[in-house]
Amino acid sequence: MGRRRSVLESCSMPAKVPWLPSRVPAGAQAERCPQCGRRALIPWTLRRDNLTKAVIRTWVCTECQTTLERVESE
Ligand SMILES: [Zn+2]
Repeated sequence: MGRRRSVLESCSMPAKVPWLPSRVPAGAQAERCPQCGRRALIPWTLRRDNLTKAVIRTWVCTECQTTLERVESE
């Protein structure tokens, strides 16, 4: 009996991030993106690290969709 390779992993969509901004919102404090160099890096989501209790801010570039995390000072 041969094993059938029926699992199509390539069909699964990357669902890590549900939504990425495609442009800088009006009034947003955009910073220069380290990846593409354009002023399109905006503060996006906040979360608290369970271990260190530090507030982590995720930044996203609306031009190249690069995301990076920084510790937010409280
Ligand atoms: Zn960028």
